[in-house]
Amino acid sequence: VVGYDQSFKGKYPNGVGRVPVGIRNKRKRIVVTGGAGFVGSHLVDKLIARGDDVIVIDNFFTGRKENIVHLFGNPRFELIRHDVVEPILLEVDQIYHLACPASPVHYKYNPVKTIKTNVMGTLNMLGLAKRIGARFLLTSTSEVYGDPLEHPQKETYWGHVNPIGVRSCYDEGKRTAETLTMDYHRGDGVEVRIARIFNTYGPRMCLDDGRVVSNFVSQAIRKQPMTVYGDGKQTRSFQYVSDLVDGLVALMESEHIGPFNLGNPGEFTMLELAEVVKETIDSSATIEFKENTADDPHKRKPDITKAKDLLNWEPKISLREGLPLMVNDFRNRILNEDEGKGN
Ligand code: NAD
Ligand code: UDP
Ligand code: UDP
Repeated sequence: VVGYDQSFKGKYPNGVGRVPVGIRNKRKRIVVTGGAGFVGSHLVDKLIARGDDVIVIDNFFTGRKENIVHLFGNPRFELIRHDVVEPILLEVDQIYHLACPASPVHYKYNPVKTIKTNVMGTLNMLGLAKRIGARFLLTSTSEVYGDPLEHPQKETYWGHVNPIGVRSCYDEGKRTAETLTMDYHRGDGVEVRIARIFNTYGPRMCLDDGRVVSNFVSQAIRKQPMTVYGDGKQTRSFQYVSDLVDGLVALMESEHIGPFNLGNPGEFTMLELAEVVKETIDSSATIEFKENTADDPHKRKPDITKAKDLLNWEPKISLREGLPLMVNDFRNRILNEDEGKGN
């Protein structure tokens, strides 16, 4: 295996069986699991632009080749079709572990697979990190706070989560992934980082992933009514994807384990979000009310004081600035889709 030399085994506390970066070369070798997905593909772009060697591991459950096709042919980019539920042998310096469906529609589609991905997938990536002495970053979620009784949510809050509900495969799965991460750190000395990501939007989201921003934007472009679930008074805080990617890299490069909330504290009701989408896309857009899904958190807003203080990070792009950047991408893809159908 390239870069793997048994003769170094045991000589370097941080590099069991791995040729240290300083001897091999200065570029970092980085794995991004879920790198063909929405967030992962933007992260890969940033790492490649910085000069790193990147290996994407993805099973294409919700990821798309279109998100990374511009990197094919780049000698510093490699793609492995692989399911993280199965073990894998690689030699790298850092692991960004994103593989997991994130939209409620996707993660509820096969809940047992979702929990296997969160538990066995994270276990395998931690086992890998332990064997090669790589630094490991988990992308956890604001869903670990459940339907929160504390508002806004700080990292010290333990959450209010239903262990047997339809969202449990995801939120309990991520909670277990956080537990595994801390146990590999405490028990095996693995260098770990935990990010708790709040609702994020931007170009390359799946057009029909059922998440509220992608739904409203697709619906407004297609001149369909925007579907507001429940009374639309529930709140979320929406972060533009480049802010998140900056936060993930800042966390990986920092000396802090976390967990850190990474999100935009600007809080909107779904009715307010519909209004912003209407202003951005089509002033004649309408809304229709639909029944809400089970266990829907009533409100969610990150307290990001910890990330501001320790990572010197805060989001820069407001919802009104970020939405138009996503709309251009969605317009083009919806247009291509329609042309594909001969419309
Ligand atoms: P996404 O669905 O676009 O990307 C997930 C990627 O993981 C896809 O490419 C998918 O094919 C891949 N994947 C899923 N299961 C896999 C498996 N078993 N083996 C290999 N690959 C697998 O979602 P996203 O929005 O880019 O989310 C990325 C990460 O960030 C997820 O871990 C998610 O839980 C976390 N997160 C995202 C948000 C958000 O708002 N986008 C919020 C909180 C947390
Ligand atoms: N693992 C992996 N790649 C590696 C090392 C480990 O996929 O390079 C997997 C391994 O198959 C196991 C998991 O990670 O299922 C946990 O590994 P660890 O060594 O911590 O535990 P053990 O193998 O002793 O159960
Ligand atoms: N929602 C909505 N209309 C939609 C999709 C979602 O009103 O078409 C609501 C949903 O009930 C929830 C919020 O938007 O209160 C955010 O849902 P999403 O699925 O985007 O993410 P979540 O934060 O629930 O994981």
